[in-house]
Amino acid sequence: MRAVMALSGGMDSTGLLLKLLADGYKVSCISYDYGQKHKIELERAEANIAYLAKNGYEVEHNLADLSSVMSMFHSALTSEDFDIPVGHYEEAQMKDTVVPNRNAIFASILYGYALSVAIREDSNVVIALGVHSGDHAIYPDCRPEFYSALGDAFAIGNWDNERVSFSLPYINGDKEVILREALVACGTLGLDFDTVFANTNTSYNPDEKGRSSGTSGADVERILAFHAIGRADPVEYIAPWGTVLAGALKAQLRFQVMKENATERPFTGEFDKHFQDGKYNCADCGRTLFDSTSKFDSGCGWPSFSAESNDSKIQQVEDRSHGMRRIEVRCSECDSHLGHLFHEASGPRYCINSICLEFEEGNE
Ligand SMILES: [Zn+2]
Repeated sequence: MRAVMALSGGMDSTGLLLKLLADGYKVSCISYDYGQKHKIELERAEANIAYLAKNGYEVEHNLADLSSVMSMFHSALTSEDFDIPVGHYEEAQMKDTVVPNRNAIFASILYGYALSVAIREDSNVVIALGVHSGDHAIYPDCRPEFYSALGDAFAIGNWDNERVSFSLPYINGDKEVILREALVACGTLGLDFDTVFANTNTSYNPDEKGRSSGTSGADVERILAFHAIGRADPVEYIAPWGTVLAGALKAQLRFQVMKENATERPFTGEFDKHFQDGKYNCADCGRTLFDSTSKFDSGCGWPSFSAESNDSKIQQVEDRSHGMRRIEVRCSECDSHLGHLFHEASGPRYCINSICLEFEEGNE
């Protein structure tokens, strides 16, 4: 059983490598230098290959230097002109982290490599890819129909194509599934899960010591996946794990409330009982929404305001969800959901989720 795969040094491809080894494949890997700002993931990939060799698992590992070509491309991952966006993965700005046509280029090289191995060793070869469902939303080149079409095109253009096939074992899974399967694989192979995953990098903006910030969208997804399997991520973060996890959970809740119209649980928000002087700004775009002078304690469990700030221009939308007729309020700048507006006997009450707000201290 023969497989080739791309080993990025991230957690998905590392999990895939463990799975292939546990399934009994002889594996050859390619790591790509595509001009990414941070080479740390390539160093971590090498460290894992060395760790595997030390434990009796020989994995052929090649480094493909594509930096001269792909550093011309427009992406926050390769261009110094961009900052890496922070926040939840699926936010629109995370599109900046797409490298144009990256996976088509990587897959094309893998296909040529797999065919070469097939001919050299007179064997069938599987091209294994670590793409998962969490990638689909923002990265069109992680979708199954894309690989299906690519496979068809490559088969048309190559002799001996019957020897090579694609395998996408996580296509219906997510990062949590990858980690659970990696845990099982480590057990089968007699490897230390924490050592292997300490030798990975997911962060788009690690510091000069290679420590992850925990704030990029990819970080947040990874942190939540480790949390979901009940383990602390062994990779080194700038902040302690508890702080990093709290930040990721906050980013997740913020996304669910502001972009998916969820509601935070009452009496849990940071600003429910918060009465300092200052302004409350939209947590997504920074637009000023409320002043502390209009804030009052309604006892409902969410921050309440009797009026919006001048110029906040909060949007009011009729909301007929949950069998009620309510007025939903949204940020006019970034269209994020904020909460609801109720007209009560005592006057208007803007009932706002704390997670949608950021507080700025001080009087006008
Ligand atoms: Zn906003």
